[in-house]
Amino acid sequence: EVRVRFAPSPTGALHIGGVRTALYNYLFAKHHNGKFLLRIEDTDQTRYVEGAEQYIIDSLKWLGLTPDEGVGFGGDLGSYRQSERKEIYKQYVDELLAKGKAYYAFDTAEELDEARAKAEENKETFIYNWSTRGKLKNSLSFSETETKELLANNTPYVIRFKIDDSRTVLLDDMIRGKISIDASTLDDKVLFKSDGMPTYHLANIVDDHLMGISHVIRGEEWLPSMALHELLYDAFGWEAPRFAHLPLILKPEGKGKLSKRDGDKHGFPVFPMEWKTEEGTAKGYKQEGYFPDAVLNMLALLGWNPGTDQEIFTLDELVQAFSLEKVSKSGARFSPEKATWFNHQYLQQKSTEELLPAFEEVLKEKGINASSDLNIKVIELLKERANFVQDIFTQGEFFYIAPSSYDEKAAKKAWKDDSKEILNKFIEVLNTSDFNAETLHDVMANFVTTQEIGFGKIGMPLRLSLVGALQGPDVPVIMATLGKEETIARINKIIE
Ligand code: GLU
Repeated sequence: EVRVRFAPSPTGALHIGGVRTALYNYLFAKHHNGKFLLRIEDTDQTRYVEGAEQYIIDSLKWLGLTPDEGVGFGGDLGSYRQSERKEIYKQYVDELLAKGKAYYAFDTAEELDEARAKAEENKETFIYNWSTRGKLKNSLSFSETETKELLANNTPYVIRFKIDDSRTVLLDDMIRGKISIDASTLDDKVLFKSDGMPTYHLANIVDDHLMGISHVIRGEEWLPSMALHELLYDAFGWEAPRFAHLPLILKPEGKGKLSKRDGDKHGFPVFPMEWKTEEGTAKGYKQEGYFPDAVLNMLALLGWNPGTDQEIFTLDELVQAFSLEKVSKSGARFSPEKATWFNHQYLQQKSTEELLPAFEEVLKEKGINASSDLNIKVIELLKERANFVQDIFTQGEFFYIAPSSYDEKAAKKAWKDDSKEILNKFIEVLNTSDFNAETLHDVMANFVTTQEIGFGKIGMPLRLSLVGALQGPDVPVIMATLGKEETIARINKIIE
């Protein structure tokens, strides 16, 4: 059975790189009729951030990536929150100690810093492993009695993994292929600390085993830990899951990992939802008006390709098409324009009825309460050029609020010495006209013929009076939508 997990640490807002990891796990699970789990890896208390766990859960819900099991989603193998599993890790680290595959170390932070500095002086890199074991303060250099005494005296300790340095570790990543690592170059990583908490490495392996994880799909930054993890599975005598390390999401410029700062610089969000801290509010895709399915579609193609030209996929289609074989090894460049493009495509696909609630939400925020009939008309008129629902309002504000000023450049172009006279005459015609777009179209055509004027002579000042600028849909359509009273009031206002 395929069982995969998304295992974020609640250290802040979830970056879209993390969202993509969740998405690929979800797609892989669903493609294979498997399960998708959410595990919260919160063992590092120094990096714990209040609210981050809820943010992760809310983001997955907004996107529709609902876990089958996990924190906030139920399941039989919980707790899925690592801070609530301390006793379990203790039991397993004790097992490694008993097997001689782990050992106590009593070095203080200062002593380790000193050792590091010394190594640096000699132009060496400090590694805590076979080369240092006997020389530092650990149970491999102390006698058993000495170690017991130190522990009895509550000397702060950590428990380190004793790497078998004689080994060559053969790795087989589903994306990177085969890699061989000389174990003598690896660190004896800390597995457990005297505060009773495991480190990421121990908790991750124990949980993946106990939760029956078949495939570990995660970011490239964990590739260097893969050899250590294989050795840990081995030390426990467990079968390791298959691994797949996903390529980085790169800056729009192409080099380096996409960061929050890139978003600030270019004005696009890197988080699914808004994230508020003391330093301010970071933008979120949700609040910027992106549709969750557009965000997922965009992220799916950042690092994976279907092998065809198809770009628009529903989530179900992604599930069908997804495979790890088609995930690229190299980083995928993030494009803010492409993100907007996806949203535009999704907006066009949606019916007016689907768009109406979001549009009315925007109107509400602006304090506008108009009839659904009008709102539906405005959506239909302006949808085509909109990337976001908000754009419909920006481009159609004049339908709700009469212009309070006129765009200077437009006025210069539209307003001529005879404009007032022409508009006055036009009002007379309007007074007796029916107000539907077709009739008004004919009325305008007639007017320019009988007055022997060019169309712009009436079209431009009229548009200026109604819109405040020289933009928007057809003038007859605007007039029909505004209605007779409002249309004439706006014309009267400009000729005052
Ligand atoms: N807690 C790790 C993270 O935040 C998970 C890494 C993994 O998936 O093994 O990225």
